[in-house]
Amino acid sequence: MDRQQAKIRIEELTVLLAQYQHAYYILAQPSVSDREYDRLNDELIALEKEFPDLRLPDSPTLRVGSDLSHDLPEAQHSIPVLSLDKGYSPDEIVSWIKKLEAASSVPLSFVFEEKIDGSSIVLYYEEGLLVRAVTRGNGVIGNDVTPNVKTIAAVPLRLSKKVTVAVRGEIFLAKDLFEKINTAQETQFANPRNFAAGTLRRIKSSEVAQVPLDIFVYEGFFTEPRKTHHEILDELTALRFKVNPRAAFFSDTKNLSKVKAMHSAWTVGKISDVPEFLEKEAGERGSLPYEIDGMVIKVNEIPVREELGYTGHHPRWAIAFKFESPESMTKVNAIEIQVGRTGRITPVARIEPVLVAGSTISNATLHNQEYVDMLELSVGDIVAVSKRGDVIPAVERVIEKNDSGNTTWEMPLVCPSCSTALVKRGAHHFCQNTECTDRLRGELKFFVGRDQMDIENLGPETLEVLFEKKIVLHVEDIYIFNSDALDGLPGFGEKKVNLIKEGIEKSKTRPYKTVLASLGIPDLGKKAAEILVDAGYKNIDALIQAAAKKDPELFTAIHMIGDKLAGTIISAFNDPAVLARIEKLKQAGLQFEAAEALDSGLPKIFTGQTWCVTGSFENFKPREKAMEEVKKRGGNVTGSVSGKTTHLLAGKEAGSKLEKAQSLGVVIVAEETFLKMLDEESGKR
Ligand code: NAD
Repeated sequence: MDRQQAKIRIEELTVLLAQYQHAYYILAQPSVSDREYDRLNDELIALEKEFPDLRLPDSPTLRVGSDLSHDLPEAQHSIPVLSLDKGYSPDEIVSWIKKLEAASSVPLSFVFEEKIDGSSIVLYYEEGLLVRAVTRGNGVIGNDVTPNVKTIAAVPLRLSKKVTVAVRGEIFLAKDLFEKINTAQETQFANPRNFAAGTLRRIKSSEVAQVPLDIFVYEGFFTEPRKTHHEILDELTALRFKVNPRAAFFSDTKNLSKVKAMHSAWTVGKISDVPEFLEKEAGERGSLPYEIDGMVIKVNEIPVREELGYTGHHPRWAIAFKFESPESMTKVNAIEIQVGRTGRITPVARIEPVLVAGSTISNATLHNQEYVDMLELSVGDIVAVSKRGDVIPAVERVIEKNDSGNTTWEMPLVCPSCSTALVKRGAHHFCQNTECTDRLRGELKFFVGRDQMDIENLGPETLEVLFEKKIVLHVEDIYIFNSDALDGLPGFGEKKVNLIKEGIEKSKTRPYKTVLASLGIPDLGKKAAEILVDAGYKNIDALIQAAAKKDPELFTAIHMIGDKLAGTIISAFNDPAVLARIEKLKQAGLQFEAAEALDSGLPKIFTGQTWCVTGSFENFKPREKAMEEVKKRGGNVTGSVSGKTTHLLAGKEAGSKLEKAQSLGVVIVAEETFLKMLDEESGKR
């Protein structure tokens, strides 16, 4: 590339990367994959190396990608809060280690930590009290998000000692919780990292409190410097911080058995063991309960760190080993649109099936028209696909345009299901016809789903037949249809019909808060329903009467209910169609009143305990039902195992939660024992 071409490309890349950074850090909605971003960033680094004088003063390679938002208060950092240098192969990491060892006058050791893929935070403590929590920002100034961080249970507000310390950590959302909460949301995030980052920057802490965020801390800057990193990690643990127990220690000079004796969960070894360890970690990544995107390798000796110092972008004493985020090439056979239960239209690429990161994908969401325009995507194009954040299949970019002359795909003007004109709100198009067949199908599927009314024997296929035959079109029809209508339908023998009836009957006993969360009101999910019930709205009439007053403050006054949810509650419970549906469901015998009496008689045998559940069970399907039993008896429940968890109910095929619980010394309870605990206690009544 000649100088003139390099100049143009450097300018192009600088502008493009700035746009991508904005989407990633500020909007928490990345417009390209990390791999694509890193590819362009590496191209810029290489060009700037070849033509150093062409580097622009605002080059993204010179500073930390800024996540500073002007909607939140700002605060100055008192410690360097930077990014990390990166390596992509175990060989690169070993050469980095060898280079540092060769230049050092003292023997070195290295601590390896998982690179948690969340949102960076600095917690400032004075005399043992949390005084400020600040995002990374531009590395010098960050956003003060203290009230939001205070809602995270794993962040200690008061330390066990009156120390003054700045602690760096990563706030994250466990993968299973992400999947659960994200699918129930109207606006979905591509991965847990964006969810955590977006949540942390909410203006209203009450909304943050509804998301079960978690934290791992990994650096402590004490007023009196400590000698080693590993000593700092021990001290942070003693101060009641959550430090990731999965770490490793490699050195050719230190006493490894001593380190192992102090940290039994750590992997320890010689520098020659590093490549094998990194490969193993990359392989285990998928089975961890949280996202990691690499490993961070840090010099253990603090005085050496101080000598090495920092560039404007990263410390010289640490490097990240970034895992490959696999991509594959395939062809877009068609672009179809899906109509969600709320009417939102999502274009989906139907692709030639292809293997990505161990699973075959044949569909990839295209989010909305803006995303398609950004990709300039047409049917027939050859594209790169990935699993973004290892979760959601995504089209990354067009590699080769089709030769059939297809132009960039365009959203149809009308709904493919009911032909109603589509309306654009924000980035998305909507079908506003509440009787649109695809919307109705979506509503039904949601209502009977496992996380809502959990109607047994009324799965998607059965439901589809009932829908096609116009026997069940609306959720209320489930409770009133005449089973004679099924007579003679292939596959609907007497036994099957009886099972369906049984499932429907059983669903009538679902508690009020489940019914409330199943009505399909945007953002009024299980958690919000529980909050409303706890706040005193113990029956639907009380809720309808309050909503009729159209005063949002009636709801925002409730801890953890924000403006958005208050607005939705008011509009939903003033909507004649919603009210008519509630009336019909009431007549059908569904629970519209909290059955307080149900649990009041039970002795509170689990008071003071925090339970978590993993695996599958004979008697509790879905397994959350077991946690209901714990709650009824005064216990707390949690979605992930942490230092605060006291009991883990472990069923068949229990996975990583079980391992973690064992390493933390949590009491493990099998289903049989759990049943006995429940039984014994009812015997005493
Ligand atoms: P980074 O990848 O350079 O990593 C640094 C961060 O890692 C730290 O700030 C810290 O928050 C975190 N971290 C997690 N665990 C840690 C541990 N144990 N020890 C130390 N740090 C730990 O992060 P960055 O500078 O925020 O972002 C750069 C990367 O972000 C790029 O390489 C790219 O992959 C991605 N990115 C993507 C887009 C996009 O549009 N897709 C845009 C910008 C950045």
